[in-house]
Amino acid sequence: MSFSVNCSKPELHTQIFAGLDAHFRLSCRAAPALAMPRRAVHTVPMPHVITSPCIGVKDQACTEVCPVECIYEGGEQFFIHPDECIDCGACVPACPVSAIFPEEDVPDGEQDFIVKNSAHFGL
Ligand code: SF4
Ligand code: SF4
Repeated sequence: MSFSVNCSKPELHTQIFAGLDAHFRLSCRAAPALAMPRRAVHTVPMPHVITSPCIGVKDQACTEVCPVECIYEGGEQFFIHPDECIDCGACVPACPVSAIFPEEDVPDGEQDFIVKNSAHFGL
């Protein structure tokens, strides 16, 4: 079972999670800051995600190997457009600081970058 939540009232999340025993997909920029019993996952599929090690490096090595040019500069870091990424994985070994992961492999402590990537594109 899959359940989607687009919520502007993060204070309600605890109640929602307590009342449902299902697989959750949560769309909320406040989610990483909440103490939730389950992993927060954005409703938009994120084939690959750029995480915090990119900040301060931004050498663009990933952009040079991406076959569809879906990696964009975004202030302090680069971001992958979730609708344009074809999930080829070419950017992963190209990154000198190992900042890029498939969504399902994003490390603990870097989960907020899943939402940060999609939010950058307004998704
Ligand atoms: S996985 Fe492939 S398509 Fe997606 S950002 Fe990386 S190089 Fe580009
Ligand atoms: S290769 Fe890594 S550090 Fe360089 S811009 Fe891409 S994600 Fe950032």
